[in-house]
Amino acid sequence: MKYYSTNGKAPIATLEKAVVKGLAEDRGLYMPQEIKKLPKVFFDNIQDMKFQDIAYNVASAFFGEDVDQDALQDIVFDTLSFDCPVQKVTDSIYTLELFHGPTLAFKDVGARFMARLLQYFIRQEGTQEQVNVLVATSGDTGSAVANGFLGVDGIHVYVLYPKGKVSPIQECQFTTLGKNITAIEVDGVFDDCQALVKSAFMDDELNRHMKLTSANSINVARFLPQAFYYFNAYARMKALGKADNLVMCVPSGNFGNICAALFGHEMGLPVKRFIAANNANDIFYKYLQTGKYEPKPSVQTLANAMDVGDPSNFARIYDLYGKSHERISSLIGGATYTDDEIRQTMRQCYSQTGYILDPHGACGYQALADGLQTGEVGVFCETAHPAKFKEKVDEILGIDVEIPARLKAFMEGEKQSVSMTKDFADFKNYLMRV
Ligand SMILES: *Cc1c(COP(=O)(O)O)cnc(C)c1O
Repeated sequence: MKYYSTNGKAPIATLEKAVVKGLAEDRGLYMPQEIKKLPKVFFDNIQDMKFQDIAYNVASAFFGEDVDQDALQDIVFDTLSFDCPVQKVTDSIYTLELFHGPTLAFKDVGARFMARLLQYFIRQEGTQEQVNVLVATSGDTGSAVANGFLGVDGIHVYVLYPKGKVSPIQECQFTTLGKNITAIEVDGVFDDCQALVKSAFMDDELNRHMKLTSANSINVARFLPQAFYYFNAYARMKALGKADNLVMCVPSGNFGNICAALFGHEMGLPVKRFIAANNANDIFYKYLQTGKYEPKPSVQTLANAMDVGDPSNFARIYDLYGKSHERISSLIGGATYTDDEIRQTMRQCYSQTGYILDPHGACGYQALADGLQTGEVGVFCETAHPAKFKEKVDEILGIDVEIPARLKAFMEGEKQSVSMTKDFADFKNYLMRV
């Protein structure tokens, strides 16, 4: 399979190049030239298949031409070492819990898949040179990437994070790992971390010294595997006899997760329509209303992993539907919620159903509560375990959310990080000497 750029001015790329480069030369996002439909028998039998086997079928359609069958199966099975259940919340609303991975983030799947795919390509090439992954994080991405790449030989990861701006739980998830993971604590804000990473990629001397790559969320190997979740959700709903008029609702920030769901739809996944649930960052919602895409600076909300003012994957969605506002708005609905509404939803859902929503999932749940039509059944993604946002959830619901053992284990490790100024000369000097 070859990949083209959404900006249309970069050369067609192989999967390997798309994964190693992340972004095309013209700053566009890579798109597969073809999206294969899965056969009818697959959908006929999907309710009897396991998550891992469903995912392997989906992965083969995307990556089967470029990755050896056994290797791909190994990558998929290794990535999906956990389950991804759906649960009934009300008669017509179900939750798809995407937080059962190693760091309790849905980003775990893309991060691990990308790590293993990169390792596969490095081995294919047979070079001994170490590949260095740079990633800037304000929380979740760093922990998912660090854990996804942990112990993958031939690759070293540098996680840059803003000092004092990451929650203690999240910080533990990437500073206590050791091995091939180095955490770099930058005296600055998230934008400074991102600027350091960008400068590093553009510095010729540094790139001659070491092989650098990014594990940014726009990478095809990080966003496409998220399609696995939606096929699995469909299968579990079909097994319950609830899949006929399915609406999938995805709490969205950079729109990578919903974009993967839409790729699934293009492959034949029988979902009737989608809803992108937003917090107060309502750029996509406004686009649906007006047909105009007008990015603006993000505002801080309770659901901070969705605080995005210019969602990168909009370019992919726009391209997927031939830039047609009509096609996009007839398949995808929108919703936007203020922090007050998020709090109210969390309280209402908890008192009426006993289900504990985190602030991100709350946007998804409410969008279904507001938008489902008669006869439709909705599934919303619960994108974060409530314990990840424990202080907020405890305060809003007046409860004491239990911290899962897996999260506790991270908190017991010893924090190790390298202190760094936000001055690129210092960062470069550090990398030149490691
Ligand atoms: C990353 C993230 C999102 C947003 O996902 P996108 O793919 O960027 O739209 C939503 N919720 C949580 C908890 C996240 O970590």
